[in-house]
Amino acid sequence: MGFAKLRYLTGLSALALTMTACETVPTSNKAVDNNQVAASDNKHQSDKWSYIGESGPNYWGGLRPEYSQCDAGDQQSPINIANTIAADISSSIINWSPFIPTIVNNGHTIEVKSPTGNTVILDGKSFELVQFHFHHTSEHTINDHQYPMEAHFVHKADDGKLAVLAVLFAEDQANQQLTEIWGASPAVIGEITANFTLDPNQLLPVDRQHYRYQGSLTTPPCSQIVSWVVFKQKLTISAKQIAAFSTVFGENVRPVQNTNRRYITRSR
Ligand SMILES: [Zn+2]
Repeated sequence: MGFAKLRYLTGLSALALTMTACETVPTSNKAVDNNQVAASDNKHQSDKWSYIGESGPNYWGGLRPEYSQCDAGDQQSPINIANTIAADISSSIINWSPFIPTIVNNGHTIEVKSPTGNTVILDGKSFELVQFHFHHTSEHTINDHQYPMEAHFVHKADDGKLAVLAVLFAEDQANQQLTEIWGASPAVIGEITANFTLDPNQLLPVDRQHYRYQGSLTTPPCSQIVSWVVFKQKLTISAKQIAAFSTVFGENVRPVQNTNRRYITRSR
């Protein structure tokens, strides 16, 4: 069953699916078609961090030694974007092509894997798109305003450093790309190769003005290796699309972190 069909379920049926997605590892995954890859049991069982309770964001740093940056780091993400400084930032050069996506439900979010060859050049340095994924609600806030959805396009450079492009979504019209991604996403942990071509450029705002700052992964191990690009212009998402995501994933959001005197620049 496709993810989008969740919207036809109500009450306890939807709740049962939520619990399946979050709390158990399925022994079989009949929800999708024959391209389905078996659920990643080991990954789920070793992923002890979560977004609620004693494995939630306030406790990530103590869960494992390799997560210590989540507590000790002083350049953590996300942040509230405010008091920005206008700067002559070189525009990021995004060179993405359409591809047939592999769509993953990893228990924390929907992740879309990118093939090689999709790049962004930031300050003259090339980073390659690895995957993009979604958070409900937004992780970054703009002047303390939180949006219902945020997409993170994760790019990696040869030296291991990351550039993450963040796109915020405001509630309004449905987004066609999200309809396709939601519709193909497994309802439980697993992955599937889609039967359509996705143009990731359609998930970027037309206006490329953005904010920039240095930060971290917003999930464990919270490594402080990320150049963040947060676009100013928002895309739109419908209430139904938000509900379909939150039915499966709840709120997969790390609270905003202290900026600790970091500079947040904005393109002119
Ligand atoms: Zn993210």
